[in-house]
Amino acid sequence: MSLIVTGTIGIDTIHTPSGEVRKDVLGGSAAYFAAAASFYGTVRMVAAVGDDLPSSHMQTLGMFPRIDTGGLEVRKGSKTFRWGGKYAENMDQRDTLFTELGVLIEEPPAVPPEFKDSAFIFLANTAPAVQLQMLEQFPRRVMAVADTMDLWINTARSDLEALIRRVDGLVLNYDEAEMFSGKRNTIRAAKKILELGPKFVVVKKGEHGCLFIHRDGIAAMPAYPAEEVVDPTGAGDTFAGGMMGHIARVSERGLAEVPTSFDVVRRALAHGTVMASFTIESFSLDRLATLTQEQIDRRFDEFVDLTSVS
Ligand code: AMP
Repeated sequence: MSLIVTGTIGIDTIHTPSGEVRKDVLGGSAAYFAAAASFYGTVRMVAAVGDDLPSSHMQTLGMFPRIDTGGLEVRKGSKTFRWGGKYAENMDQRDTLFTELGVLIEEPPAVPPEFKDSAFIFLANTAPAVQLQMLEQFPRRVMAVADTMDLWINTARSDLEALIRRVDGLVLNYDEAEMFSGKRNTIRAAKKILELGPKFVVVKKGEHGCLFIHRDGIAAMPAYPAEEVVDPTGAGDTFAGGMMGHIARVSERGLAEVPTSFDVVRRALAHGTVMASFTIESFSLDRLATLTQEQIDRRFDEFVDLTSVS
């Protein structure tokens, strides 16, 4: 499966509402995405880290045998991206406490020649100029989807607009869709984004699921009703990993003629929702590292049942 993700590998510090602090855990948009997508097939990863990344974090990535780390650069003397976040009582809102870009302000990582034939491209959250530069390197792409975040909407708007014009789909949080478009209503916000060119926008609403606004229709999907949320960090990236993993898998098996179509992406959102529901059960990649295919299948069936109306 020639699915590729470019984005961050990070060292996160997480503050939960109960006052618990988890320092220096493995995170980053590409790490979460790749871990989730690897349950669907091989996923190629392109990212850069500094030589300060603890070896235990490398070992954690190694627990996902279908992540191809051939595009992971470890740079001597550079600093790994670091991010700190604090969650509000409802676990749905969070404040960024600090962002240390580190290696992100250096040259973007190189795409290995053997990755250049990638067909399914996910441009996980990082500087939009880097996302654009990455996109250019996949001339045989069938589908490209990007994620973004408030930091980039505020600091790199014109690069972000240029990126949105070039991708098939965009995934972002509802407050980011509002911030980007100036529209409070999610559907209007997404339609404004569609005017720039993409075929679809997925607007994530945390525990309230997501809205899917495609040129050919609109759909809503709830989140999996989780009883306990330990750490929501990475939910968005694992959602995208499940979604793109499913699309790449069915496309390469010849089961999806048009991977960007309303029906294919809509079903993929259910896979994303299920993968995200596991991530939030623990810190960092801990839950994904112990997850089995059987647990995924069981929860997927349960999710389909609870979202069907007879
Ligand atoms: P999510 O909870 O899915 O939005 O993703 C959280 C992950 O994104 C964390 O593990 C962070 O390391 C990473 N992250 C936070 N801010 C940024 C940023 N501005 N650019 C790229 N990755 C980020």
